[in-house]
Amino acid sequence: DRLLAPEAGSEEAALESALRPRTLDTFIGQQRVKDQLGLVLEAATARGRAADHVLLAGPPGLGKTTLSMIIAAELGMPLRVTSGPALQHAGDLAAVLSSLVPGEVLFLDEIHRMSRAAEEMLYLAMEDFRVDVIVGKGPGATAIPLELPPFTLVGATTRAGLLPGPLRDRFGFTAHMDFYDASDLELILARSAALLDVPLAADAAVEIAGRSRGTPRVANRLLRRVRDFAQVRADGHVDLEVAHAALTLYEVDEIGLDRLDRAVLTALLTKFGGGPVGLSTLAVAVGEESETVETVCEPFLVRAGLLARTPRGRIATAAAWGHLGLRAPAGSAA
Ligand code: ADP
Repeated sequence: DRLLAPEAGSEEAALESALRPRTLDTFIGQQRVKDQLGLVLEAATARGRAADHVLLAGPPGLGKTTLSMIIAAELGMPLRVTSGPALQHAGDLAAVLSSLVPGEVLFLDEIHRMSRAAEEMLYLAMEDFRVDVIVGKGPGATAIPLELPPFTLVGATTRAGLLPGPLRDRFGFTAHMDFYDASDLELILARSAALLDVPLAADAAVEIAGRSRGTPRVANRLLRRVRDFAQVRADGHVDLEVAHAALTLYEVDEIGLDRLDRAVLTALLTKFGGGPVGLSTLAVAVGEESETVETVCEPFLVRAGLLARTPRGRIATAAAWGHLGLRAPAGSAA
């Protein structure tokens, strides 16, 4: 499990659940989403009906699962959790839907990875609170309509663009979640530190926030690693010096690049003059699979404005030269 990965590691779930905010008020940042969602929930509560279906769209680690729990809590309803990959057959979905209690919130993570058959069943369920269960095969097959209790679907996706239009249209409200700015991450870190009983100095929080890639999950993970360092190598207090030394030890640099990110960037600059260079050539130069470079390193390097993917190959930006303290050669692509 990579220190800066936005996805949860295999043993991270229990650690994370202790840090999840439980109410909309304690959910930090994403003000626009909070305002809009607050209104949707308040209106539903006032009407005494199941709330409109909600789609949460955005990169991993920004709080989609957390928000789904908050939605259920604010509505005072139980929450059922499932995911697209778990619903490979329409029957899997029918079983989940028919066992919901009235008003229940169904969280469907990775909704873009649901099977086609489950997806079509979901259309009808979302619209009419009904599914057609097909019994039998071939000419003798019959559709048995099954009434469902009213429920609120909360779908989450990292790839809103991949959702078919008819599915997207059936959500009453879509929340587009964005990366957090440093000041929100500082607040998240301060809150987590209090919950974990870690004395965290304000300037240390600034230091960790700046290296967290705009992602609360990464911020919390870095905090746990810095806490380890503080306990073993210092007196348990996380001050600026401790945070700095810990993050240096873990090879997370000032803007949140790790060793592999820096190796890719260094190879691009020093071996290929800043590019353009093909992905596979670049991957060989750092001794990695192309897929790893493409899916693990590049998204953040692109977002940080250090690397560009062009039809001719990968190119370093002027900022990349600056970040590694190198000077771009005259006439380079940057
Ligand atoms: P996602 O489902 O989008 O991958 P999660 O909801 O699992 O993200 O959040 C990952 C971690 O980050 C959780 O431990 C959660 O407590 C924390 N987190 C996310 N958003 C916030 C926030 N706005 N305020 C405080 N903590 C947050």
